[in-house]
Amino acid sequence: VIEARDLHKSYGTTPVLRGVDLDVRQGEVVALLGPSGSGKSTLLRTLNHLEGLNGGSVLIDGEPIGYDLRGAELSERTIARQRVSSGVGMVFQQFNLFTHLTVRENVAGPLRWVHGVGKAEADTRADELLAMVGLSDRADARPRQLSGGQQQRVGIARALAGNPRVLLLDEPTSALDPERVAEVLAVIRRLATESGLTMVIATHQLRFAREVADRVAFLRDGVIVEQGPAAQIFDAPEQPATRRFMRSMA
Ligand code: ATP
Ligand code: MG
Repeated sequence: VIEARDLHKSYGTTPVLRGVDLDVRQGEVVALLGPSGSGKSTLLRTLNHLEGLNGGSVLIDGEPIGYDLRGAELSERTIARQRVSSGVGMVFQQFNLFTHLTVRENVAGPLRWVHGVGKAEADTRADELLAMVGLSDRADARPRQLSGGQQQRVGIARALAGNPRVLLLDEPTSALDPERVAEVLAVIRRLATESGLTMVIATHQLRFAREVADRVAFLRDGVIVEQGPAAQIFDAPEQPATRRFMRSMA
């Protein structure tokens, strides 16, 4: 589904991604691990072209994202359309919900505005998704009336509304109180096991990553220093940097 090749990204003169290759196959769950500042968020954002690249390419189902076939950068409007049609959904650390809209409107809104779905149908679909994340009874509330864990479950429902082919999640539980983490992880776990959704998850939750990820990529200083099956990366990491990281997080 995703083929990222030799991604380079700098902010000013500071290189943040220094040649990242990442492939994600249909139905696969990839966990992105690495120290703070290693470039996990930046990598996810470039996969969705929320950030432009200084080099390299991202193909989603074989189609280049953000650039035309000659490599020229597309307009923001074209990219926004591409993001929708390429089927890449994103869940943010800070939820990024619309505070002035109800929970149902947060999920139904993008369906109406972006996908052109009528209000009744969008509301029905929103209610289905809210049921799936266990929030049927909060559909008419505003985000600020919800706990962090509930808000993030709304964020997940919203990201799923467009039926994405791949879902990118950027530390979906790191803004949450410890007692709220489990309910969000349970939703993500269900997406992996029951829906077979293709996902890339940046997370510091190692136990969770080990449990749901088919593959783990360890990022450090803007390069993937090691990747492989979860069991291998957790139990027998080959790179000293990976070993040190696993020990420090244990
Ligand atoms: P964390 O685990 O803390 O979320 P991360 O692995 O997600 O870290 P990034 O957020 O991708 O790391 O940041 C990588 C580097 O890029 C950091 O050094 C950060 O300071 C820098 N950086 C990120 N976004 C910007 C920006 N918009 N402008 C300038 N520098 C940035
Ligand atoms: Mg980050």
